[in-house]
Amino acid sequence: MKRIAVLTSGGDAPGMNAAIRSSVRRAIYNGVQVFGVYNGYNGLISGNIEELTVGSVGDIIHHGGTMLFTARSDEFRTEEGRAKAVEQLKKHDIEGLIVIGGDGSFRGAQKLTQLGFPTIGVPGTIDNDIPCTDYTIGFDTALNTVVDCIDKIRDTATSHERTYIIEVMGRDAGDIALFAGLAVGAESIIIPEATTGVENVIERLYAGRKRGKKHSIIIVAEGVGTAHQYAEIIKKQTNFDTRVTVLGHIQRGGSPSAFDRILASRLGAAAVDLLLEGKQDRMVGMKNNQIIDVDIDEALADKHEIDMSIFHLARTLSI
Ligand code: ADP
Repeated sequence: MKRIAVLTSGGDAPGMNAAIRSSVRRAIYNGVQVFGVYNGYNGLISGNIEELTVGSVGDIIHHGGTMLFTARSDEFRTEEGRAKAVEQLKKHDIEGLIVIGGDGSFRGAQKLTQLGFPTIGVPGTIDNDIPCTDYTIGFDTALNTVVDCIDKIRDTATSHERTYIIEVMGRDAGDIALFAGLAVGAESIIIPEATTGVENVIERLYAGRKRGKKHSIIIVAEGVGTAHQYAEIIKKQTNFDTRVTVLGHIQRGGSPSAFDRILASRLGAAAVDLLLEGKQDRMVGMKNNQIIDVDIDEALADKHEIDMSIFHLARTLSI
């Protein structure tokens, strides 16, 4: 393989730039030319493809977002769209593609492999919802952003003796809510993977008040509904001074944490190594601090699961 390409697709995540940099430099180190595809699968279809050099990925390791930009491409979901994409890859003599993104982007990558074009997936999403890897690129940074925000909210919650219901991202996965909940000592964590009735949340609020707690923090993962819905019920039943904060897209930005930069650097390079070994239809990941690769079909067929011991620990500690 002498010419490969890299793209970022779907929701951006801090650390994607570090992954791009790693793939580009690992390839060049091995004497392979690398091309950047701009705007995800849209750029593949329109041929928005340019050669990247060692210098073109300089000074990006510490930046959030993605220098290749990203997109959601409806056209790529069609056979015609994908045929155009393969045509562009052939036109540029590109022999392999690295797709940095979430499960949707991996489904796209899977389709390219089915058309005979070798692809490797690198998990980049703040949601941490990809099976077969302990962490995805961007999760740690998003988590730290959430923890930082909630620490600030806690100051005002304590001063005013308020109950704060905080909504965090994660799509259908509760990882951000769960890990943040343990890290900030939230009273309750409401996530899609575990049933927590509102009655139980309220019970815990009363128990906290009884032992003199000045504030309460409840974290709601967006996958279970909105913080406003929970706040309405809680306020009605307790009459506590209840406030809502929806953290929103602030969770997707910012300079990637050291953990994400290191993970991205390891995974970006591993993806190149797999292409050069002649592998395809694989996804790279990290299990027990070891870089691994698995069949993308297998990863997509698997269900993402959370570590319930963390959920139980958080409950035990927030009595
Ligand atoms: P993420 O990768 O963050 O999960 P999306 O689910 O939006 O984000 O997927 C990103 C893009 O991947 C989509 O806009 C689409 O172009 C492509 N994609 C997703 N699912 C498929 C599919 N089943 N077939 C072909 N392309 C897909």
